Amino acid sequence: DSLALPWEKFYRSEYMGSGTQALSFAVAIAIQGKSKTPDPEVIIPAYGCPDLVAAVVAQNARPVLVDLVPNSPYMSDVGIRKAITSSTVALVAVGFLGMSERLNLLAEICAENNILLIEDSAQCFPPASSYKPFADCIVLSFGRGKPINLMGGGGLLLRRSMAEEAISNLRRYPVKALTIGKAWFVKRKIFNLLLARIPYYMLEKIPLLGIGDTRFHKLQHLFRLRIPKNLLLAGIHSFYSRPQIHLRYNTELKVLNKFGWRCLTNDLDGGSWQASNHRMLRYPVLAPSMDMRERAVDALYAAGIGASRFYGQSLDQVDGVSEWLTRGDYPVAKDFAARLFTLPTHEDVRSADVFLVAEILSGLRQG
Ligand SMILES: *Cc1c(COP(=O)(O)O)cnc(C)c1O
Repeated sequence: DSLALPWEKFYRSEYMGSGTQALSFAVAIAIQGKSKTPDPEVIIPAYGCPDLVAAVVAQNARPVLVDLVPNSPYMSDVGIRKAITSSTVALVAVGFLGMSERLNLLAEICAENNILLIEDSAQCFPPASSYKPFADCIVLSFGRGKPINLMGGGGLLLRRSMAEEAISNLRRYPVKALTIGKAWFVKRKIFNLLLARIPYYMLEKIPLLGIGDTRFHKLQHLFRLRIPKNLLLAGIHSFYSRPQIHLRYNTELKVLNKFGWRCLTNDLDGGSWQASNHRMLRYPVLAPSMDMRERAVDALYAAGIGASRFYGQSLDQVDGVSEWLTRGDYPVAKDFAARLFTLPTHEDVRSADVFLVAEILSGLRQG
């Protein structure tokens, strides 16, 4: 127990049944902090996981979507400022496949407007707030296909100054223990093998695996989870054993920039912690057009590279989500969803695979 988790200086760790549950409890904390707000609203990005909506509506709050900055996964700060009303209780800063949101900017906006900043780091490890405590709370997911795969569970990290009160509220939820026996290890092993061997887009079609699932599921129950710390540390260790293959992709795919393709991790600040200590869950690329994206995914798949369209649509277009939203239009998120594809980054991706990807995509731009 002597090894520290990266956020422990600033945050207390609580564990819940899933990342969605942890996010939902973070929303409950925000609502409680502004108890005079009759119809609480929570700001989330217009491109993202439908679980964001489920977590918000489970607390009887309204999700308010904000469009993105063009050619990026970041929420538009102009859009955020327009979306804030006297009913806004929280802003969810969602990291994308290993790229954290611009937390310093969002923390400033939240402080000016007295709203809670929640860092959803389900796809990023470690969370950006471990280095500097930007967020009031941080959400982690230990689900399949997330950085720390414990086959389920989530983390809610609470800023130490607010933790006491929040944790006394958490006590109303039942506690379960994460049951890990032989079967659990075998299942995880099989899952990891499948992830490495079978094209991602085929895995996405196996509902039992529950990855790349872009359907809306209502959140029914919240419960706390007891997770042994050594299991968490082992999961972290295994994430860091992945290669930093995104750096290789950055180099080999650079030529495509001239032809209107964009490798999103090229925009990361080279001197930041993200560049040095960092692994991507998948490698995101924007094609110049939707047609090119379709051709890229097909050509890569034919060559045995597990490319994926990822969510494939903006959040408001996901079945079952729109009834929870007020009407709005999110052209940048739609465009992002139409042109994005992602490439694998797991430990079996070799330099030769990256060369092959570069060759295939370069061929497309000429064809
Ligand atoms: C997966 C995910 C969640 C939900 O986590 P679960 O553990 O699957 O409930 C929340 N936010 C983001 C950004 C995610 O990718």
